[in-house]
Amino acid sequence: MGIKVAKFGGSSVADAIQIGKTKKIIEADPDRKYIVVSAPGKRFDGDTKITDLLYLCKTHREHNLPYEQLFQVVCDRYKVTEVNLEVEVNIRKYLDEIRENLEKGTTADYVASRGEYLNAILIAAYLGYDFVDAAGLIQFDAKGRLLPEETDRALKEELKKHERAVIPGFYGSSPDGSVKTFSRGGSDITGALVARAAEADVYENWTDVSGVLVADPRIVEGAKPISTISYKELRELSYMGASVLHEDAIYPARAADIPVNIRNTNRPQDEGTLITAEAGPLEDGQIITGIAGRKNFTVIALYKNMLSDERGFVRRIAGILEDFDISLEHLPTGIDTVSVVISEDSIDGRLDEIVEEFRQQLKPDTIDVIEHMALIATVGYGMSSRPGVSAALFSALAEEGVNIRMIDQGSSEMNIIVGVENDDLERSIKAIYRAFIK
Ligand code: ADP
Ligand code: ASP
Ligand code: MG
Repeated sequence: MGIKVAKFGGSSVADAIQIGKTKKIIEADPDRKYIVVSAPGKRFDGDTKITDLLYLCKTHREHNLPYEQLFQVVCDRYKVTEVNLEVEVNIRKYLDEIRENLEKGTTADYVASRGEYLNAILIAAYLGYDFVDAAGLIQFDAKGRLLPEETDRALKEELKKHERAVIPGFYGSSPDGSVKTFSRGGSDITGALVARAAEADVYENWTDVSGVLVADPRIVEGAKPISTISYKELRELSYMGASVLHEDAIYPARAADIPVNIRNTNRPQDEGTLITAEAGPLEDGQIITGIAGRKNFTVIALYKNMLSDERGFVRRIAGILEDFDISLEHLPTGIDTVSVVISEDSIDGRLDEIVEEFRQQLKPDTIDVIEHMALIATVGYGMSSRPGVSAALFSALAEEGVNIRMIDQGSSEMNIIVGVENDDLERSIKAIYRAFIK
């Protein structure tokens, strides 16, 4: 018998009906021994995720605003699920404890993490599996960085004691014992860490779409599913906005060479997408694997005559950004130009200071700043061996009347990144899709 780790996302465990579907899926294969769950997500369009409600409770409490009604919505959802699943875990007791801690001013991470904690308790009881808390197992350092090796050891040790278990996603603990969460969507990372520790044959990630699609289905209606994709390609896509799998969930699976299978809880008959080290063959005639995009970047373009002869220019750019604690997203270069691409979030209102620092330390002839840019990555191994891919991409955008503000063709030739205005993101992705996907 093998071991499968199955992670169910927010919409897959949003209420008792959805949890019923997950039970069927789990029981259909005895190998599905370790289950990682998210907090209850949206039940319908316009619904609110439990995680968002919990963050709201915390912000209200912080500003001394009433949050009782909001917290009541959270309580009601769990109580109804407890009744509908016909389990008795005394969820009210846990909710009272969370309310008390909220009142005492506990951390946002603790409050947010309770969404998965309570859901895992309910689902473990419903499946007849052990509940294994992620606190103490998933470990972070004092700066909030995951400790992958320590986590792997602790998880391995604990999983040995449980033949079947449900583990809450999204959080672990800091060295001082306090709860620490991943960034949003982080239950995917928990699932990958559990899969690695369990030495699973496969990490199944169950969600509300039948796999990774060539483009975000909210932008390209009816986008085609990708049957196989490599870890590398998917990391590019998820980093650039294909939010179906958290970008940091890929590393643990890849390190242990565990295939990831994205599946649809509402259509378990679909095979979904298989993510492995080697990319599978593309459909006949298909050149690209996927397209993804993200908004809100700033480009600082530096021009300096004879730049190519200057030593240490890029190192100084990196140094300046490090001083501002900003990470560099891209750095397309020409002979006498360097474009520094950073996210607007990380600039945090300090753009003038950053530009001034560049001016003083690098003494460029000109500096141009382009704000409100979106980056679009077109990804695929198939692209490198085909001439004319970039030409086809640029002409698709030109025909659509999109103004390309920046181009960065990675040396791996696995992706081409273009910068366009934020407002052009959606129509650019549609145009690229039309040009490459028949
Ligand atoms: P879960 O709650 O199960 O973790 P998410 O909402 O995090 O689910 O991820 C699934 C969603 O990701 C889909 O419903 C879809 O809207 C979005 N998405 C964005 N890009 C893609 C893509 N390329 N392929 C599939 N889904 C995508
Ligand atoms: N519940 C968390 C979120 O909404 C984590 C997750 O669902 O993966 O971000
Ligand atoms: Mg997710």
